[in-house]
Amino acid sequence: MRLPLVYHPGYTIAWPETHPFPMAKFRALRERLTTLGFDDDPAITWLTPPPATSAQLLRVHSHDYLQTFYLGDSDPKARKRSGFPWSPALVERTLREVGGTLLTVEMALETGLACNMAGGTHHAFANGASGYCLLNDVAVAAREALAQGWVKRVMIVDLDVHQGDGTASIFQNDPAVFTFSVHGAENFPFTKQQSDLDIALPRGIDDDAYLVVLKTHLPRLLNAFRPELVIYDAGADVHAGDRLGHLELSDEGIYKRDRYVINTCRTAGVSTACVIGGGYDRNLSALAGRHAWLFQAARDAQQAVT
Ligand SMILES: [Zn+2]
Repeated sequence: MRLPLVYHPGYTIAWPETHPFPMAKFRALRERLTTLGFDDDPAITWLTPPPATSAQLLRVHSHDYLQTFYLGDSDPKARKRSGFPWSPALVERTLREVGGTLLTVEMALETGLACNMAGGTHHAFANGASGYCLLNDVAVAAREALAQGWVKRVMIVDLDVHQGDGTASIFQNDPAVFTFSVHGAENFPFTKQQSDLDIALPRGIDDDAYLVVLKTHLPRLLNAFRPELVIYDAGADVHAGDRLGHLELSDEGIYKRDRYVINTCRTAGVSTACVIGGGYDRNLSALAGRHAWLFQAARDAQQAVT
């Protein structure tokens, strides 16, 4: 079975150089995968997503919020919350990114495993943007899979260093979606929401301690909830060198984490849709390398069964 990877050149748009969000990282990651031989790999299928539709977004986001998302917010305070300078190009790229996660979920259900080269915008709430997240791609894709009748239960495994607060809030009263977030206790958001299971880690957790946490919880959660789909947010901001995260994982630790999640879901017979999540570094090459581990883990896992 070929591994579907979802990418759109429009994931990266022209962006103020001094802005703390590394908008160029999506292109840098794509280039890194070229360097790693993914373009000519017969085991990989490259896919380009269409933009998400309003009907898909309305399964998660309110009508009023979508109006301001599409047209820009007149309230400067609300504008500040997203952390982004609004523009039509930003709207377009965000729709592509959500479309990418939607396509990734569809492909994961078809083949067992698929990855988006963006996504994981888990701070976006039903009614508003937060922390560099305008729309919650993970929530929109989970709701789509349920609304289409593809699955009855979805688990969101959010291993970004920041809590998936928007996702937790959106699915607070939805028994069809289990939200599992492992994050740094001292990281943004400073007011946490309640996921179905939150594991808040102290500063300085390393590779081994992190894997112990995953091994303690992930297999038992899969066994108890029995999802047919996992959406995995593989945030690279758990890396020791990350500008925003307070954890201390190495490059090898990220690879081991991603491989463990993919293998564990596969062993449990659950389709897995992966998104890259957060990662913040001025050094684009280092950052692209950290995000690339997910794709290497997915490729290695796929090769191990074919
Ligand atoms: Zn993050």
